[in-house]
Amino acid sequence: MTSQRTRERLLGRLIEQGIKNTQVLDVIRTTPRHIFLDEALSHRAYEDVALPIGYNQTISQPFIVARMTEALLDSGPVNTVLEIGTGCGYQTAVIAQLADEVYSIERIKPLMDRARKNLKLLKVRNIELKHDDGSLGWAEKGPFDAIITTAAPQQVPKELLKQLNEGGRLIIPVGGEGVQELQLITRRGDEFVIEVLDKVRFVPLLAGKSRD
Ligand code: SAH
Repeated sequence: MTSQRTRERLLGRLIEQGIKNTQVLDVIRTTPRHIFLDEALSHRAYEDVALPIGYNQTISQPFIVARMTEALLDSGPVNTVLEIGTGCGYQTAVIAQLADEVYSIERIKPLMDRARKNLKLLKVRNIELKHDDGSLGWAEKGPFDAIITTAAPQQVPKELLKQLNEGGRLIIPVGGEGVQELQLITRRGDEFVIEVLDKVRFVPLLAGKSRD
């Protein structure tokens, strides 16, 4: 089920749904998603669906990972990226192949530990992970060319806007549980231009950090 044919079928679906960036498509083609899943679910790794990873969290749907990464690269190459919500590390691995430095924050310690193991296995080295509440961003490492949030807050955290470079972009699902808006927010001086990309469904961005 993790055969080349199944993977190619996934790529076909992403293209059908409008993903155009060939760099993004190539990285998704070559990044093994099955290693991020428990063995019992790995046969479903190349279906275009979100799947459970424990702790009430999910690995994102490949289409959403592709869509967010495409939006991140839309105005040219990015050097530094901050990700909020590492989860199992799949999106981190995708972005790390398309940016120079990736910083990622996860509030659930065992998930962060698992992501670290997965990323090591894939020899992804240009990343730094931190166990913390990501709504505060990572000021010491910023400002960033892009910030991507893979859990949904009710409102955009102010700290994240502050940590964007000029022209930098924040890609973030905003709204309550159920359906949210995927927003692309671009910094223009002290102004923030908002564009709505899609309707999406993410787990909520929660305050504080948890050891288990
Ligand atoms: N990026 C992942 C998606 C993980 S799901 C992927 O590629 O599949 C979203 C993750 O956000 C969960 O692991 C959840 O624990 C985490 N999260 C929620 N609120 C957070 C917060 N305030 N700070 C950091 N991580 C948070």
